Amino acid sequence: MLKLKNVSKYYYQNGVVAKGLSNVNLELHMGEFVVITGESGSGKSTLLNILSGLDSYEDGEMYINGEETSHYTEEDYLNYRRSYVSNIFQNFNLVNSYTVYENIELALLMNGYAKGDVKDKILDLIDKVGLNKFKNTKASKLSGGQKQRVAIARCLASDTPIIVADEPTGSLDSDASKSILEILHNVSKDKLVIVVTHNKKEIEKYATRLIKMSDGRIIENKVIEEINKDGELKEVSNKDITYKSKFLLGFRNAFNIPVKFILMFMIFLLISITLISNYSAFKVAQYEENYGYSRVFYNTDNKRIIINKNNKELFTDEDYEQIKNIKDIDYLVKEDLLNDYELYLNSDYLYLNGLLYLKDIDKVSLGRIPKEKNEVIFIGNKNSYYLEYEDILDKEYNIDGTDINVKIVGILYDDSYNNYTNKFYLPKELRDELLEIELPFYSNVSVKIDNQTISDLQIKISEKVPEGFAYLSDFFFKDYQNKEININNQNIYYNTDYQLIIKDTYNMENIKKLNVTYENDNIIYISREDYNKIFKKDNYQSSVFVKDISVLKNVKKELNKMGYQTFLIRDNTTRDSEFINKLFNVLKVIVTIVLILTLFFIAYFLIRIIYKSRNSYYATLRSLGSSKKVCVNILMNEMFTLATFTYGLFIIFLYLVQRNIINLSYFKDITRYVKVIDYIIVYLILLLLSLLISLRYGRKIFKNSIIKTYKEEE
Ligand code: ADP
Ligand code: MG
Repeated sequence: MLKLKNVSKYYYQNGVVAKGLSNVNLELHMGEFVVITGESGSGKSTLLNILSGLDSYEDGEMYINGEETSHYTEEDYLNYRRSYVSNIFQNFNLVNSYTVYENIELALLMNGYAKGDVKDKILDLIDKVGLNKFKNTKASKLSGGQKQRVAIARCLASDTPIIVADEPTGSLDSDASKSILEILHNVSKDKLVIVVTHNKKEIEKYATRLIKMSDGRIIENKVIEEINKDGELKEVSNKDITYKSKFLLGFRNAFNIPVKFILMFMIFLLISITLISNYSAFKVAQYEENYGYSRVFYNTDNKRIIINKNNKELFTDEDYEQIKNIKDIDYLVKEDLLNDYELYLNSDYLYLNGLLYLKDIDKVSLGRIPKEKNEVIFIGNKNSYYLEYEDILDKEYNIDGTDINVKIVGILYDDSYNNYTNKFYLPKELRDELLEIELPFYSNVSVKIDNQTISDLQIKISEKVPEGFAYLSDFFFKDYQNKEININNQNIYYNTDYQLIIKDTYNMENIKKLNVTYENDNIIYISREDYNKIFKKDNYQSSVFVKDISVLKNVKKELNKMGYQTFLIRDNTTRDSEFINKLFNVLKVIVTIVLILTLFFIAYFLIRIIYKSRNSYYATLRSLGSSKKVCVNILMNEMFTLATFTYGLFIIFLYLVQRNIINLSYFKDITRYVKVIDYIIVYLILLLLSLLISLRYGRKIFKNSIIKTYKEEE
């Protein structure tokens, strides 16, 4: 039983009060088919909205099965509607992007049914309203009459005892109207049906009660057919929508409107790209800043780790084997001083300098791989602004400070971020020869003759000097023959003394006997054997280069665990002051937060525009008994789906770029240091943005009443 007692309703608009209903008294029962007529503006809709709990009233009392409702909260009304009432509107209020089947399914999912359990019931209902052929047609493609049949089927799906229809035929031609009213009548057994209509003639034969309204009052209330008044309104059991259904709807909504989907895809893609770029920019700054310089080391490649053994022992072959097996090591340079050796090449017109390139090279960009000992490769940036590579190729050069001549036979372009200087690749024999010349410069050599220390002497090799002997210039050492010469060689790793006998002296004229060219009088010539004994130690110090800056610390730890001392070039080069670094870090955090906030507002702004047309969808959900929480949940699932889908595609795309299947250098660059954990963090940020947007938009949905939302959409 549904009863109104002296119910009045006023509308307040722009400070003016308008009368909706005044002092309406009415009692309706199960099994009735109530027809309401009246002029436009006479209060019919107001009456229906109050009866169906879509609107509240000011005065009087409404009773549901005898229970007062004046104290009802919004939630109470929601429960009342879910348990008792379904509505049919003049404008159908279907979900246009859903098929007939899905529209009916929606009502069932909202009442807690599982998708798998409702198929037969839905098909049965579709059959009942004669839409078999259209079950998979989108609602937007249907005629008005067909739409209203779907609306009726949806009411039946909810199986509520009360069906309230406000001008269900108002937008239909007379044939369609007739059949809708007929269907409505056919399904109305044991229900309370309340219909507002102008088709008085067609409907009169079904009516059990006729009500006429005027100016907010009931002016006629005529019972045509007495019915049994004992029947209580039987509330339908309504469970809450299941998680699965909420997910299903969110998923469906994400994709079922193509234009919306594409726009959302673009927004989420933009957010994804911006976040990953921003993230990667920080990582690059963290890893690749190469501003550092050092007075000791020329090769300040920040992937370099200098190693030595804990008790200053020599490296053994086993040591090297062990080190090479560390996973993230790119390459190993045993003779560490080659790393910091700067090579100068002169020709008649050109002067080139650079460090040595100490990795193996198997292909070049121009020219060819060296075949002879004195053939070298030049490594430089492809777009050098001061070198024409064709010009330096196949030319002869002298290695500064030596009488070695080389030819550049190949050019290798290296545009990697770390390549901030030109480099030369030398065949192994040539490297060894240079090393031999350089060795004395890497330790402190002091020479004593007759127990007197003599400075500024240089030691070089002559093939003609026998082992155990030395040749000195007769300019300084004319009478020193057969005297003993002591050579002390010392650095942090060792301190050794060698004794040689002065065999003879040389001068500018007779130096040919030593098979060398005259340079100056400060040179001591000794045999290669002695030279090697004095200078050529095995290695006390080597360098490893890691594949990637991000593994630098790990490799260092591993080396330490194996018992080596490590020295990171990165930590031992001079760079920006600590203060600026700290400031930079704080700035980074601020920039990220500002960026995320900006993204949020841009995204929210765009999404609000895109979702404006979605207000009626959520009004429909509400009219089917969905609470605010459920609406927000469904919207959230939709956002999550879109975010995940877009981000997933973006990740696949980045993967293809990394595998060089897609060639886009921008994306290759930005992903260089981004790791799995970073991708997960960005994904979480994306989900957070989706959540915030859903919550914000969710508040908007519920600002207006269902009826008002529908009216605004019209
Ligand atoms: P009917 O459905 O019979 O055409 P309504 O119930 O819609 O009549 O309207 C009854 C009266 O209440 C009318 O005078 C109308 O102008 C007024 N009214 C209805 N809805 C509103 C509203 N939302 N704000 C202000 N006045 C309203
Ligand atoms: Mg109306």
